[in-house]
Order: sequence, then structure tokens, then C-alpha cells
Amino acid sequence: MTDLHRLSIRELSEGLAGSKFSSRELTEHYLKRIEKIDAQVQSYVTVTPEQALAQADAADALRKSGMANVLTGVPVAHKDIFCTQGIKTTAGSKMLDNFISPYDATVVAKGKVAGLVTLGKVNMDEFAMGSTSESSYFGATKNPWALDHVPGGSSGGSAAAVAADLAPFATGTDTGGSIRQPASFCGLTGLKPTYGRVSRFGMIAYASSLDQGGPMARSAEDCAYLMNVMAGHDERDSTSVNVDADDYVANLNATSVKGLRIGIPKQYFNVAGLDADVKARVEESLKKLEDMGATLVEINLNMTDAYVPTYYLIAPAEASSNLQRFDGVRYGYRCENPVDLTDLYKRSRSEGFGPEVQRRILIGTYALSAGYYDAYYVKAQKVRRLIQQDFLKAFESVDVIAAPSAPTTAYKIGASLDPVEMYLGDIYTIAVNLAGLPAINAPVGFDKDQLPVGLQLIGNYWSESQLLSVVHQYQQATDWHTKRAAIAEETV
Ligand code: GLN
Repeated sequence: MTDLHRLSIRELSEGLAGSKFSSRELTEHYLKRIEKIDAQVQSYVTVTPEQALAQADAADALRKSGMANVLTGVPVAHKDIFCTQGIKTTAGSKMLDNFISPYDATVVAKGKVAGLVTLGKVNMDEFAMGSTSESSYFGATKNPWALDHVPGGSSGGSAAAVAADLAPFATGTDTGGSIRQPASFCGLTGLKPTYGRVSRFGMIAYASSLDQGGPMARSAEDCAYLMNVMAGHDERDSTSVNVDADDYVANLNATSVKGLRIGIPKQYFNVAGLDADVKARVEESLKKLEDMGATLVEINLNMTDAYVPTYYLIAPAEASSNLQRFDGVRYGYRCENPVDLTDLYKRSRSEGFGPEVQRRILIGTYALSAGYYDAYYVKAQKVRRLIQQDFLKAFESVDVIAAPSAPTTAYKIGASLDPVEMYLGDIYTIAVNLAGLPAINAPVGFDKDQLPVGLQLIGNYWSESQLLSVVHQYQQATDWHTKRAAIAEETV
């Protein structure tokens, strides 16, 4: 079969169960596509054909023995931030260029138990800091919809791999939008779960109180399958919440759009820099949801102006602390011929980290320093609480909140946004992480240059089933999620 890459996860699962094709055939098909097409997209940092084929054979054997799970034999790509035993884990950094983890992240281990076949590790902004994937030490990943544009970031490799049909779905992580924004830029569905829903064990830390893993795929249904693998309590992550995960696939029709109250934050649609096409597509999608029976309710989120400054204090502060461990001693890059210990630290870190990471370490260290701690870090934590309360108040009168995922469509590669300009592009996603809420991106059309536009729906705590369900129903009534970039149409 030459079009296996066009099948949804449910179709892949059914095809494998019905012996229409084997996991080996499916895996070989994807490996061949990666070999032929990925040179143009550059979504993979590491491809693992031998391991993938061994896993595929094991999956086929399991199918024969009647012991298979729903996803046994389905391929996946992992963001290169999840530790994989025996396979390089780089976090997009020179610092970890040669790092081979001695253990699997919980998300990766759960994938193995579910029978997923790992095709490889996909590119990302260095240590997940960025919105374009250009800060990767391994070079920029391209947007499959327009190869001279970025796929978004930091999970840009995950998004580009799925959008080019080089993986049926992929894992991502979201500290301030890194699942939702690349999903938006690449025309995909991506879910950022409630903080604590998905284990962070073995997920290289950027900002620990904000980081959360989640699925990226074509549809809400495909995301639900991967969410069933990723979600759940993990005693090795002290912030993983001991609440039973839902069966996200079974719940796909559990919430009705009819009667759903969708909050429209007045402030969000007046943001300077909100592109006219993005605004129009998002409004059209909301009209569609209204036609399907939802009620649109205007709400106020009064803290909107505080999002960017608050996030860009707390995230760098936590990053500066987390990244102390990369000291050239224990693991990762070590400079040549250090003259003493201070020289070893200094040069290993200045040679091993790229400019964006160094900028954030400096900002974070400054904000945490004794003289400024109260004025910046403590203040930011207080504002963070107000941002959370603003959302909780809104959820007293609405079920979900709608917003664009990003103010624009994908940027041109090398558009050389200055850092502050890039940070402003995170306005719609970062507050969700500050509050720990779940949110989803769904593709809702294109701008004048045929670049995808995304709608974001933000839910209350633990409402992942509701978000997936609402998007699933929207996707039953529309076909934006089925549109493919020309490069994904290429057969090999
Ligand atoms: N663009 C944001 C940042 O650079 C978000 C990144 C992320 O979610 N990992 O911090």
C-alpha cells in the first residue's frame, strides 16, 4: 500500500488488527518517507530504523499471539526532550549533542508498553526556548506548508513531522505554547494537558512549574489515542497528580457542543498585532460552533497585559535554576583543556549553550538574585495568582474560553525577530501555563498565503476530555484537519 500515511490512528489500529498490513510494512513505509522527504523538512534529529523495525517485528508477533493493545505496532515520533534509553537525547542543544540517557522518560516507557514503534527523535528549539525551532543547534526545521517558513516552536519538529506525514502522531511539550503554537502554524491538532496530568519524569526540564507533555496529531481523535498512552499518575514525578486519567477515545462524544458556553475574552481580540486573517478565521470557526448549538459569551480577562512580563520572569528564573546541572562535569558538553574549575564551568556553559538559552539564564539569574528577588520573582508569582483567578472567575459563567493560538501565522525563516517581538507572539498561550490549565489547538482555515490558522480552546482543570470532544465534533462537521500540505501528498 502506498498511502498508509494517509490513515488516521483509528484506521491504522483497525488495519493492523485486521491484518490488512503489518507493523513492519507500516514502519518501513514511514522510514522510506523520512528518508525521501525529511531532507527538505528537517524534522528529525535522529532516525532509529533498526530499533523501529525490531519493535515493529515484536508488535507483529504480539498481534499474532492475540495479546496486542489498540496501538500495538503504530509508529510515533518523540520530541527530543524526552529521554530515550540507548538513543541520543539532545534537547536541541550542543550541550547534549552526545548525551545518551540511561533510562526512558515515563512517556516513552508508556509508549513502549502500549506497543508504539519509535521512528526517532524530532527537532525543537534549544531546551524548548523559542517559538520557531530556529534556536536548535541542529538547524531550523521547515514548515511543510511553505518550506521558507518556520513550523513554530518549540515542538516544531513534532509538528513538521506530522504535517509532512513523516509520523502519524508525535509527542510534544508545552511550557508556554510549544504544543499549541506549532500545531497552529502547521495545521494540526495539539493538546496541552492540565499541569500534573502527564508525567514529567525524564522530560528535560525547562521551567518545572509550567512544563507539560501532550499529543500532536491531525485530529482530536488521533490526539485522544496518544493521550490515552501519555496521561496518568507517576510516582516518580512529585507534581504528577494522583487523579485517574479518562479514556479520551471513549469520551470523544461525551460533551455536546449544543448548549456549550464559549467565553470570548474582549481583550484577546483587541491585541495589537493580531493579524486580520487570523482574526477572521477564528471568528468564522466560532460562528460555526455557534451554528452547531454553542452560545458565545463575551468575557473579560483583565490581566492580559501582564501575561508576557510575568511569564518571561518566571520561565527564565526556573530555567536558570534547572540548567545549573549542565556544568561540564556530570554530563553533556565539556570544553577543551580547562585551566581550572571556574574555567571549566564558564567555557563549557558559554560554548555549550546557544544565545537564547544564555539570555534566559542571565534574565533568570538576575531575577532570582538576592537584591531583586522580591521586586521581580516574588512579584511575578503574585501576578501569576491573579492571572489564575481571572480564569477561574471566567469559568463561573462559561465552559470553555476561545482565543487564537497565535496572533499571526508562521513567520519566514530568518525573519530575525528581536527577542521581545518573539516573546509577544506568545501572548495567547502563556497564561494557560501560568494557571496550569488545559488547552487545545484546532486548525480552522488558512490566511491569504495558504498558511494554517489555529483556534485555541482553553478548559477548566482536568477538562481534557471535554476539549477533545468539542474539537472532535467540530472536526466531524468541517474538513480543515484533513487538508494536507503539498509535500505530504508526495508518494515515495
Ligand atoms: N515560546 C515560549 C518560550 O520560548 C514557549 C516555549 C515552550 O512552550 N516550550 O518560552
